Amino acid sequence: MPRSYADRLYSTRRKALVKHLRERGITNERVLRAIEAVPRHAFVEPAFQERAYEDEALPIGNNQTISQPFTVAYQTSLLDPQPGERILEIGTGSGYQAAVLCEMEAQVFSVERHRALLQRAKRKLQGLGYRVRTRHADGTQGWPGMSPYHGIIVTAGAESVPDPLLGQLRPDGGRLVIPVGKQGAHIMQRIVRTDEDTYERESFDAFRFVPLVDEE
Ligand code: SAH
Repeated sequence: MPRSYADRLYSTRRKALVKHLRERGITNERVLRAIEAVPRHAFVEPAFQERAYEDEALPIGNNQTISQPFTVAYQTSLLDPQPGERILEIGTGSGYQAAVLCEMEAQVFSVERHRALLQRAKRKLQGLGYRVRTRHADGTQGWPGMSPYHGIIVTAGAESVPDPLLGQLRPDGGRLVIPVGKQGAHIMQRIVRTDEDTYERESFDAFRFVPLVDEE
């Protein structure tokens, strides 16, 4: 099927976005390839499609946003999911981050607390052929039934690291990427479980996230 004008336009814009992400310091080629492949315009509201390849967070309804491409690239680079790995995402939102993880050939599980958002994301992911197992629940509890995970990525800002997430990491190097801190200044952290009860923590740059709502 010949590609439409819009498809070609968006594909050109995706290439420009990837170039921009490289200039901002993203070096993980597998991450960049995934971002070049996922049609981000399909995950934003129609009114914002024209802006889908700007490096901006955009509204997706229910007061939530699709993360800025730089943030997605940064978090995904820290997670560095390998083909076949079990990866849990907390905060499905639009489904975009989950699609990026699928492009990297991970087995993707994703939890979202907003039923309406989750329904929309599921429909989009399915329509585009991305296979993501989803759950409507409070992600601060993780998804114990599907654990352990090679990686967990939290796409909302936490005040502190929820304990259940640590316990659902594989003890042989499972890693958790999570923004932690007060509203408006979340420090990106990576916590690696190197042993049954040994966790190594590293801190990276500050970001602004919508809050991870603890339902407890
Ligand atoms: N990863 C998303 C961006 C999500 S914004 C994307 O690619 O579009 C953060 C999301 O986390 C929001 O959809 C919000 O509803 C969700 N969220 C916040 N607290 C949560 C919790 N406790 N459990 C599950 N999801 C949560």
